[in-house]
Amino acid sequence: MPDQSLWDPVRPFSRALVVVAHPDDAEFGAGGTIARWTELGTEVSYCVVTDGASGSADPEMTRERLVAIRAEEQRAACKELGVDDVTFLGYRDGFLEPTIEARRKVATEIRRRRPEAVVTLNPALRWSSWGYINHPDHRAVGDLVLHSINPAASTRLWDTTLIDEGLEPWDVAELWLMSFGDGPDLVDVTATFERKLTALRHHASQLAGWDPEARLRETAAQRGATAGVELAEAFTVLRFRVLDEEGSVPVYEKPPTNRKPLR
Ligand SMILES: [Zn+2]
Repeated sequence: MPDQSLWDPVRPFSRALVVVAHPDDAEFGAGGTIARWTELGTEVSYCVVTDGASGSADPEMTRERLVAIRAEEQRAACKELGVDDVTFLGYRDGFLEPTIEARRKVATEIRRRRPEAVVTLNPALRWSSWGYINHPDHRAVGDLVLHSINPAASTRLWDTTLIDEGLEPWDVAELWLMSFGDGPDLVDVTATFERKLTALRHHASQLAGWDPEARLRETAAQRGATAGVELAEAFTVLRFRVLDEEGSVPVYEKPPTNRKPLR
C-alpha cells in the first residue's frame, strides 16, 4: 500500500519559472516534472543565474569557452523539455551571493513572467546524507528566490524603479524546492523520464562520459515506490495561494483544495 500521496502537477499552472544556479541543475532535479508540465500546456521559462564557467576539470578549458558551451547545452536541454524561454543572468559561477542587486534581477524575471509556480533549489540544505557538501551557489540561489518572491516581487513599493519599468507586483502561488531528489511532494515522471535523461545528456561538459541513468532511475524508483508509481521526482512544495476557477487567493483565506491524491 503506498504511503505517500502524489501531488497533482498538472491542474493549476499556466506559467512556471525555474530559477537555478547552473546549467543542468533543473534537469537533475525537475526534468521529468518540467516535461510533464509543458506536455500539458504550461508555459515554462528558465532563469539560470550564474554563467557556469567553473564547471570543468579539463586543463585545456577556459572560463570563456565554457560559458558558451554550457549555454548551448542548456538551450538544447530546454528544447528537449519543451522550454524555449531561457534567460542567463551571467553571475560568476562559484561566487554567487544573494545580494539586493541579484534579488532585484530575479524579482524582475518573476514580475515579467508572472508565474504561478516557481521552482528552485532548497537553500536550507548544507549537505546531503550521501556525502556531498551543497554548492554555495545552490544555497544562494534558493535564498535569492525566496526573497525575490517575498518581498521583492510581491511588494509594490519594494523598489519603485521596477514599477517605473512597467513591472507590477506579482504573487507567486507555489514554490517548488528541489532537495537532492528528496521531499514529501511527489510527481509521477514515469512517462517523461526518458526525456529527462535525454535533456541531461545534453550537458555533456558536466557528465565527462558518465551516464546518469542508473543512479537517477534508482532514486526515481525509490521515490515512486512510496507512492505506488514506477518513477517519481520529489520536492518540498510551499503553497502561498490557492488556485481555482475564481482566481488565486492566499492560503490563509481558504483551505487548500488542490492537493489531489491519485489513489
Ligand atoms: Zn549546480
